[in-house]
Amino acid sequence: MSYINKVLSGKCPNCGKEKLFHDKGNPITFRMPKMTKECGSCGYNFHRETGFYFGAMYVSYALTVAEMVTVMVLRLLLNELFGTNISMLQAFIAIVVVVFVLWTFNYRVARIMWLNMFYKKDEE
Ligand SMILES: [Zn+2]
Repeated sequence: MSYINKVLSGKCPNCGKEKLFHDKGNPITFRMPKMTKECGSCGYNFHRETGFYFGAMYVSYALTVAEMVTVMVLRLLLNELFGTNISMLQAFIAIVVVVFVLWTFNYRVARIMWLNMFYKKDEE
C-alpha cells in the first residue's frame, strides 16, 4: 500500500486492518479525537515512544497553512473571475471558520501522516 493510500485509509501502517482513531472527535464540542493504543489485529504499538507525536504538530501547522492559502486563493479567484467583492475581513472570518471546523481533521491526519512517515516494515 502506498503512503497516500495509508494516510487516506487512516489504518494501521503495519497490517492496514485497524483504524488509528476510534473516536473522530468533534470540533464544535471541543472533543479531542481518541487514538487506539495498539493495533487489534497485529499488535503494532501506535504510541511508539513518549513525545513521538510532538513532530505531528508541524505537519498540522503545514495543513492549516495550506487551508488558509486555499481560502485566500478562492477569494482571489472569486473576486477576479466572478466579480464578487469579498473583503480581506470577510476572507479572514472565512479562514477562522474553516480552520475551526477542520481542527479535528488536521489533528488526525497529521498524526496518521507522522506515524506513516516513520514506519518501517521490519522494525518489530
Ligand atoms: Zn495492525
